Amino acid sequence: MSRAANAQEAFVDFLRKSGLNVTRSRLAVLQALTGLPQHFEAAQVWMALHPRVSPATVYRTLELLERAGLVRKVELGEAHAHYERVFGQEDHGHLVCRVCGQVLEFPGKSARRVVEKAAAEEGFELNEVVIQGYGICADCRKARYNCREAEVAE
Ligand SMILES: [Zn+2]
Ligand SMILES: [Zn+2]
Repeated sequence: MSRAANAQEAFVDFLRKSGLNVTRSRLAVLQALTGLPQHFEAAQVWMALHPRVSPATVYRTLELLERAGLVRKVELGEAHAHYERVFGQEDHGHLVCRVCGQVLEFPGKSARRVVEKAAAEEGFELNEVVIQGYGICADCRKARYNCREAEVAE
């Protein structure tokens, strides 16, 4: 609850500093995110708010939330964008399965530190750190290579 309230405060602050209006629709988009799965698509936000908020407003507001650092785009190797909440989240990395699309999360603190250290050494101003690997999850590997693994195991 307080985390969501903090996110709202941060968003209102961002909108004001950017010279944008604090509208009910924009706040509704942010609030809708707390009821969605960790990784979501813009269409899910729109469905949660339909018909009160138009799809165009949802997309634009997600862009604003991204710029405000409250949401980030997650590249899952699919044509349409996925997002996730940044507020109320621990640093974490993703393992994205290219077969079934599931996203496994793992603690990302130490990986983040490596990127931050490199950035500091380069005098690089860091905006975002993405820790992500692509491949085939254990379930899909099992389904796919069952026979072959059985042979190897013999
Ligand atoms: Zn999979
Ligand atoms: Zn995630």
